[in-house]
Amino acid sequence: MANTRAYAASSPTSGMAPYSFDRRELRPDDVAIEIDYCGVCHSDLHTVENDWGGSQYPVVPGHEIIGRVTAVGQDVTRYQPGDLVGVGCMVDSCRTCSACDSGLEQYCIEGSTMTYGSLDRHDGTVTHGGYSEKIVVSDRFVVRVPENLDPASAAPLLCAGITTYSPLKHFKVGKGHKVGVLGMGGLGHMGVKLAKAMGAEVTIFTRSESKVAEAKKQGADHVIISTDKAQMKAAADSFDFLLDTIPVAHDLNPYLKCLKYDGTHILVGLLTPVEPALQAGLLVTKRRVVAGSLIGGMPETQEMLDFCAEHNITCDVEMLDIRNINEAYERLKKSDVKYRFVIDMDTLKQ
Ligand code: NDP
Ligand code: ZN
Repeated sequence: MANTRAYAASSPTSGMAPYSFDRRELRPDDVAIEIDYCGVCHSDLHTVENDWGGSQYPVVPGHEIIGRVTAVGQDVTRYQPGDLVGVGCMVDSCRTCSACDSGLEQYCIEGSTMTYGSLDRHDGTVTHGGYSEKIVVSDRFVVRVPENLDPASAAPLLCAGITTYSPLKHFKVGKGHKVGVLGMGGLGHMGVKLAKAMGAEVTIFTRSESKVAEAKKQGADHVIISTDKAQMKAAADSFDFLLDTIPVAHDLNPYLKCLKYDGTHILVGLLTPVEPALQAGLLVTKRRVVAGSLIGGMPETQEMLDFCAEHNITCDVEMLDIRNINEAYERLKKSDVKYRFVIDMDTLKQ
């Protein structure tokens, strides 16, 4: 396939710079997509800076991709050129294990192939993500984007949306539940909107006084300043669920105290390790649970997009010229984004 313009990091400290590479020829089940928009997830930054170890350079990040189909392989029946489609965090999996059979490809027993930084299962090349003009993806890992959603502000649904939707659904969050969302960034602000739409009473925990008014505008019923000990103490034993999107290692114990008995603390922020140690007594004496959750499977990703279309939910986005990606990463580090950068891919072609 034609050469593809992109942005890549060549090392953990290089910053992002223009790069180009060849996308593969279409396999029989492939969909070729011209990318219009791609969200900037904190995971992109973690991978670029090798926070989790094992990053494969050059890294072309991006897993909140929306664009139009330009061509399909001979076996593809679900999509045709012109369709508005999305690609999220995964582009392949073994497709035969019990997890894949259940539509939980993110928990594929062999490990799913991530949109960037994974080895392609067929040709062994490193996958490259959505900070690029085009992408080629097997149809099983492509979702249909409802045409009534604004595509730029829908792009982050492909990661921030599904990562918060999936645990809320899994734990059957709904009317009568009190949900706390920790961290008001890309994932956190989607957690607020989705938990509200599911009927829960929602509180945002933020370090930032400046985000209080906006959290309420987005539908949060209450806001707690997490650095204020008195406010944290007043919240003791009051939440059914906490959805933790904080991207760095942090002390879970003050938050666990805010859960009711039988309450669940759900980690989605990919922090390693959890420190300081969990106080087992906080779990044992109230039968509290600490859980984790990874994105969502393909059927659930489609369900989430349809849910968002029905409830008119999209992300609050700041449009980004890709040439400013390094400054955007600096702002992301300072939690100074309202609330997701989305790259307008036309800026890659200028
Ligand atoms: P953002 O940077 O957009 O938001 C994170 C928020 O956490 C910030 O806005 C800030 O909120 C809060 N925060 C940041 N630093 C600290 C700190 N030092 N102490 C306390 N709170 C802090 O990140 P994303 O929403 O894009 O991603 C969040 C995490 O989720 C990342 O680790 C990412 O890798 C992970 N992730 C996990 C996925 C999964 O499948 N489990 C999928 C996608 C992402 P405030 O200013 O309100 O305090
Ligand atoms: Zn992400």
